[in-house]
Amino acid sequence: KKVTYDVSLRPVAATGTLVLSFQDITHEAEAGQMRRDFVANVSHELRTPLTALMGFIETLSGPAKDDPAARERFLGIMSGEAERMNRLVGDLLSLSRVEAEERVRPTAKVDLVEVLRSTMRNLNPLAVDNDVELRPDLGPAPLPLLGDADQLLQVFTNLVENAIKYGGKGKPVEIKAGTNLRDPALRGPAVRVTVADHGPGIDPVHLPRLTERFYRADSHRSRALGGTGLGLAIVKHILNRHRGRLRIASEPGQGASFTVILPLDLAAG
Ligand code: ADP
Repeated sequence: KKVTYDVSLRPVAATGTLVLSFQDITHEAEAGQMRRDFVANVSHELRTPLTALMGFIETLSGPAKDDPAARERFLGIMSGEAERMNRLVGDLLSLSRVEAEERVRPTAKVDLVEVLRSTMRNLNPLAVDNDVELRPDLGPAPLPLLGDADQLLQVFTNLVENAIKYGGKGKPVEIKAGTNLRDPALRGPAVRVTVADHGPGIDPVHLPRLTERFYRADSHRSRALGGTGLGLAIVKHILNRHRGRLRIASEPGQGASFTVILPLDLAAG
């Protein structure tokens, strides 16, 4: 591991002797590097659609000016690129918001079953478009916890949307929820929700880094599906705020499963 020191010569006031002083600033150096990497990534992600847009504007104002068929086709592509930029900016705003709120404990009473039902209602059109059947197994009882319903909705929306997109056409997505009064992961009562698909899965080498911003296991596929690379980073921050955990498991070729573990709060029910 790389350690960074700040080295300085300082006079000792009483005697005037010079002392060579070392200060470990590894943490600050790493934080600075991460910030620079992030800005570089954002710039690159924004520039790609922007460059495409500029190219098409030039073509439309010149060579393709009087070609209605080309115009229509290029405008379609341009609208897709603008949508990509819009999604990216939206996810960046979400990320910055959830990061800012990460240390504020949520206090509202939330029934996770309701959140999961809303998630499925919202994503039903996407599932139908992809010929994907959503298979819920939520149990008979409410799943009470203290949380932020909008943020939890965002967590499950991101996970189920990924399962639909990466799982692929015709492959069902299972959403299973249950409680464990002495959950080993949280050492106390917990709710576990697993979102599982039957797509290509994820090579295990990628699993530890999957929640990093802009980290993609399959960059080509992510971009083709309109992904921003920020969904799981947003999920991670929201779960941190809720003292929750995310477990990712995958058997390549068989599919992937994402398990959210959250503290159950029986008093919230
Ligand atoms: P993206 O916008 O690229 O989908 P995410 O942060 O949501 O970004 O996910 C990060 C990466 O994790 C994706 O680019 C993809 O490679 C991988 N991934 C996420 N969910 C799945 C899944 N259900 N099956 C296969 N790969 C997945």
